[in-house]
Amino acid sequence: MGLLAAFVLTPRIMAADSEPLYGFSPGGSEAQRKLEASFRALPEPDHLRQYMQRLSARPHHVGSAYDKENAEWILAQMKAWGWQASIESFEVLFPTPKTRVLEMTEPVRFTALLQEAVLPADPTSGQVSEQLPTYNAYSTDGDVTAPLVYVNYGLPDDYKELDRLGVWVKGAIVLAKYGKSWRGIKPKVGAEHGVIGCILYSDPKDDGYSTDDVFPDGPMRNTNGVQRGSVMDFPSTSPGDPLTPGYGAVAGAKRIPLKEAAGITKIPVLPISSGEAQILLAQLKGPVAPEAWRGTLPITYHLGPGPAKVHLKLEFNWDLKPLYNVIARIPGGSAGNQWVIRGNHHDGWVNGAADPISGQVCLLEEARALGHLAQQGWKPRRTIIYCAWDGEEPCLLGSTEWVETHAEELRQHAVAYVNTDGNGRGYLGMSGSHILEHLVNAVGHDIEDPEVKMSVWKRCQASKIAGATNAAERRDIRAHPDLPLSAPGSGSDYTSFVDFLGVPSLDLGFGGESSDAGVYHSIYDDFFWYSHFGDTSFVYGRALAQTVGTTVLRLAEAEVVPFEFNDLADVVHQYAEDLQGLLKHKQEEIEERNRQFEEGVFEATSDPQHPKGPPEAEATPPELNFAPLQNAAKALAASAKGYQKALAKAQPRLSDPTQTAAVEELNQMLLQAERSLTDPSGLPRRPWFKHLLYAPGVYSGYGAKTMPGVREGIEFGRYDEAEKEIVRVAKALDGETALLNSAAKILDGLNP
Ligand SMILES: [Zn+2]
Repeated sequence: MGLLAAFVLTPRIMAADSEPLYGFSPGGSEAQRKLEASFRALPEPDHLRQYMQRLSARPHHVGSAYDKENAEWILAQMKAWGWQASIESFEVLFPTPKTRVLEMTEPVRFTALLQEAVLPADPTSGQVSEQLPTYNAYSTDGDVTAPLVYVNYGLPDDYKELDRLGVWVKGAIVLAKYGKSWRGIKPKVGAEHGVIGCILYSDPKDDGYSTDDVFPDGPMRNTNGVQRGSVMDFPSTSPGDPLTPGYGAVAGAKRIPLKEAAGITKIPVLPISSGEAQILLAQLKGPVAPEAWRGTLPITYHLGPGPAKVHLKLEFNWDLKPLYNVIARIPGGSAGNQWVIRGNHHDGWVNGAADPISGQVCLLEEARALGHLAQQGWKPRRTIIYCAWDGEEPCLLGSTEWVETHAEELRQHAVAYVNTDGNGRGYLGMSGSHILEHLVNAVGHDIEDPEVKMSVWKRCQASKIAGATNAAERRDIRAHPDLPLSAPGSGSDYTSFVDFLGVPSLDLGFGGESSDAGVYHSIYDDFFWYSHFGDTSFVYGRALAQTVGTTVLRLAEAEVVPFEFNDLADVVHQYAEDLQGLLKHKQEEIEERNRQFEEGVFEATSDPQHPKGPPEAEATPPELNFAPLQNAAKALAASAKGYQKALAKAQPRLSDPTQTAAVEELNQMLLQAERSLTDPSGLPRRPWFKHLLYAPGVYSGYGAKTMPGVREGIEFGRYDEAEKEIVRVAKALDGETALLNSAAKILDGLNP
C-alpha cells in the first residue's frame, strides 16, 4: 500500500461503450455489455462466506466422508440453480500413512511427535480423528537410519555447493527447507545424489515468525505447523493417477503394477514442523552453512553430516480411493458444440478454507448467477461447463483423469479452460496461454477493485510498475496495451488442459495483500483463519467471481472466438530472445570459470582451515542456430497483424445471417490455434507434456519453462537436442502462421 500511495493515479479509463468488444459485431457487443452488467450485479459476498462455512466445516481430503458430502452438496446447488449436473467418478491410487516414525538416535535421543497442536482459539483445529496426519503423498515406503545433512532447499545447485564444501551426502538422510521448487523435486534430486531419506520443513524465515505474527495471533506458520503435500515427480512423468498414465482411471480400467508407477519417490520423505526441525538441526556439526542457506531459527546452521543420526520409517496404505468430480453444463445454442470450461478443485488437505475453498466459492457464485440468467431466458451461444474437481491436492487427479478420459472430445470441442485455486486480497494475478492475454486484459478494465475503487487492470499495472527493477521493464509495461500473462507452469488443474491437450487456459486469482503461505496445507487453513486473515469481507471473492464470470461469458458469446495473436507473437519473439540470452550468458559464465581455473583462483581463495573445492569444469557451449526460430517468429508476427486487420474490417458483418457458415468455419479453425502449438510426440523424455511453448520445469516443477525443449536442452548441456528442438518449435509456429493466414482469408471473404 505504501508504494501505491506514491503514485498519481489516473482516473479509470475504459474502452468507450461504442467501441465493439473484441470478437463481437457492434450489435452483439451492445447486447453482451448488457448481459455482463446484469451478471456482475449478482454475486454476493455473504453467499461466498456461507458456502465457505459449509464446505470447510470438516476435513475433506480424497477418500474422506466429507469430501463426498461436499461433492453431493455442490451437485445439489448446481441442480437447484438450473444446471445439468452430475458426479463423474474415478478410482485412483491415493496413499495414506500407516506408520510414521522419525527419531534421532545420536547424539541425543528424540522422537518427533509429528502432530500439529490443537488450538483452543481455532474451533476446527481439534477435529483430529478426521484429519490426515502430516505426510507427503506418493513417498515410497522405507525404513532407514543414517547421519543427517542439511541441504538448504535441496536443489541441484545446493548439492554442487555441498560437494565443493566436502560434505558427503551419499547414504545420508537430508533435511531440506520447503520452497523454491515443487516439493517433489527435493527427494528426486536427493536420490540422484545417493541420499537414502528426505525430511522437509518450513523455516520461519520463509513463512513463520520472521515474516509476521504466527497463527492464531497472526496469519503465519507457528512452530507446530506442518505443510502436507504431494511429492510425486510429475514434471518428468505426468500428473494424475500414477497407475493409469495417459488414460482415464475409470472403474475397471487396466492398471499398471504399483512397482512400475513412475513418479513415486525413490526414497522415503516426511514433512515436519520448524519446532521439530530445530531439535535436529541443533545437533549438526561440520561446516557452518553458507550465509544464504541460513534460516532464522535461534541456532547456528551447520551442514553435517551428523553427529545427529536419524531413523525414518514410513509405511503407507497403497489402495484406490474414489474421486467425485462435479460436472455441470448449460447447453449452448447455435455453437453448442464449442465448450467453454471453468474449474476449481473442492478437495483440501484438511479443512482447506483458503486452498481451495476460497476459489471454489467464487465458482459456485458464478454458477448461481449464470443459472439465474438462464432461468430468465438467456441461452449462451456456446456450451458452458463448470467443474468442481476432486483430488487436485494429491496430484491434479480429478482434472487429469477427466481430461484423459474425454481427450478426443475435448480436442474437438474445447474453446478454453479458466482455472482458479483459492483467492486473497490485492492485485489480479494472471497466468496462462497468450492467445487469451488480450481477452483477460479487456475484462480487467471492466472490473472494479473493491477497496481501491479503480479498475483491477489499472491496479495490476500500477503494481507491475512499482515492482519493476529497471527502466526498460517500466517502459515495456507502460507501452504495452496488454499486461503480460505469466506463462503457465503447473501446480493446479489447468495443467492437463494446456500441457496434454493444448486447450488455451487461464489461471486467475487476487493476492499480494493477504497470503495463506503460513497455513498452506496445514490444519490451520480453515474458516477461522480465512475470516480473520484472508479476504475477510469476501469482496475480493466477489471481484474474482465477476472477473472469471465475465471472461467465461465473453468466451461463450463472442461471434468469433476472442483469441488474439499479436500478444502471442510478442511473447514468442521475447522467448526466442531469452533463449539466445541464456546461451550467451552460459557461454560467458563457463569461459570466466575456466579462466579462473587457469589463474588458480579457486586454490588461492580456499581457506586452508575450511577448504572449499573448485566447481566442476565444463566445456564452453557451442553456438546454436536460432535462425529457424527467428524466421518463424517474424512470420507469425506478420500473420498476426494480418489476422487482426482482417478481423477489424469484418467486425460489422460478424452477425450477418448470410455469413453464419463462414463464421462457423472460422471458429472451428480457431479452436485448433493452441493445439497447433503442441506436438503429439511430446517433449523429450516426457511425452505426456505436448505443448512446445510451456511446461513445468523438470527441476523446478511449479515454475514454467518456456520453449521447454530448447531451454532445458541449453540448461542441461544437451546442445544437439536444443538445436533439434529449435527446428521443432519453429515448425509449430509455421503451422500457427498458416492457420492465421487461412483464418484471415475467411474473414476477407466476409467483406463484399
Ligand atoms: Zn489448491
